[in-house]
Amino acid sequence: MAHPTSDSLLDLFRNTGAYLKGHFRLTSGLHSPEYLQCALVLQHPQHAETCGRALAAALNVKPDVVVSPAMGGLIIGHEVARAFGVRHIFTERDADRKMVLRRGFSVQPGEKAVVIEDVITTGGSSKEVVDLLRAAGVEVLAAGSVIDRSGGRADLGVPRAALATLEVQTYDPAQCPLCAQGLPVVKPGSRPA
Ligand code: ZN
Repeated sequence: MAHPTSDSLLDLFRNTGAYLKGHFRLTSGLHSPEYLQCALVLQHPQHAETCGRALAAALNVKPDVVVSPAMGGLIIGHEVARAFGVRHIFTERDADRKMVLRRGFSVQPGEKAVVIEDVITTGGSSKEVVDLLRAAGVEVLAAGSVIDRSGGRADLGVPRAALATLEVQTYDPAQCPLCAQGLPVVKPGSRPA
């Protein structure tokens, strides 16, 4: 697959069963023989804390607040905020699928933020959070994720760090060799497709 920038992180994924091999349909609609299920690493608080500390160190900025898109960013965002010693808030989608702050969360103009997600593929969710914060007058210092599945290409308009950058093997369903073998395809992270 996979040209991880961090061998120890990939070992952590293997050891927690989070590195899945099989036949997966990604959110993009493409098929892949492998999948990294971040939640299976982050279910262990000590691993989540380790990842949070490493990501905070990699970002190397001094934010006032960490902001994550729910659900994927919740645990890692919390742990990055713990490492920085600042608060962690998160965004959710409203009825119109627009990213918003709820639950009484607020940001102040002039505050400095980092945006944290578990996995960046296109960076779409994190970019929406960046845009929301900028519209509120917040200075977004950087964005981070445990895994970058974009091969480093996702552009959020701010400096970015990830604990591992991967080039995930994908196939167009029409040309997928796993489909050709008749293997059932599953959508990771939810029910079998
Ligand atoms: Zn396939």
